[in-house]
Amino acid sequence: MYKIDYHMHTNFSSDSDAPMEEMIKSAISKGCNEIAITDHVDFDERYDFTDYNVYIPVISELAHKYKEEIKVTFGVEIGLESLWADKINKITSDFPFDFIIGSSHAVCTKDLYFDRQEYFSGKTKEDAYSIYFKEMLKNIDTCKDFCVYGHMDFISRYGTYEDNSLHYADYEDLIDGVLRSLIEKGKGIEINTSGFRYGIDNTYPSIDILKRYKELGGEIITVGSDAHYTKDVADHSDFAYDMLSEAGFKYISVFRNRKPEFIKL
Ligand SMILES: [Zn+2]
Ligand SMILES: [Zn+2]
Repeated sequence: MYKIDYHMHTNFSSDSDAPMEEMIKSAISKGCNEIAITDHVDFDERYDFTDYNVYIPVISELAHKYKEEIKVTFGVEIGLESLWADKINKITSDFPFDFIIGSSHAVCTKDLYFDRQEYFSGKTKEDAYSIYFKEMLKNIDTCKDFCVYGHMDFISRYGTYEDNSLHYADYEDLIDGVLRSLIEKGKGIEINTSGFRYGIDNTYPSIDILKRYKELGGEIITVGSDAHYTKDVADHSDFAYDMLSEAGFKYISVFRNRKPEFIKL
């Protein structure tokens, strides 16, 4: 099995203190064959931006230093918002990322972490979650150059309802629209295992969405821990690989120059 962890943060992200070299060593100790370093870029002014002039040479140097033990891929996680599409498209054209996760961290400029109350208050769960998927569709149409959509049903982590769970069947049309658009544009989704650390005991997204992506013809899947600490690198990766097989996938994807390469599970 070719073990990957294609989503992790280091101290280039404002919400992690982990040195990149320590994350790489942790991945080696956990038997990863390949990782992608995917520090944050979000255009909300309350986040610090990664300094690319430092980020790029540090990744290159460490990728070279550990090349006999692990493949380190140059990635980024960009918070997508159609409103910021011009800025996002400029960054993706200016810098040579091999892999880009596009994620919804904000909906209609309301950051789901900072503005949680503001976003959810006065909305039913159905409205709040529906708007999230409608905005996702706009993001996919306007932000051109990402490889996989990150933690697709992540909004269920932030809901302020008694039951925050999100079921494919309740948002079938909207989720199908998102999945069809991703497939048509040659983009994948990730299985993000951070849900096991945030109390949902499941992945983002869960298997029902994964199966639907496959049914509609989707083939591009990455697995990522979304680790911000060394201990979480490759967390629950076995669970994610089993889930992939259960959903009928035969391959996992890695990226070179933003193009997927398929590796047998
Ligand atoms: Zn994220
Ligand atoms: Zn992340």
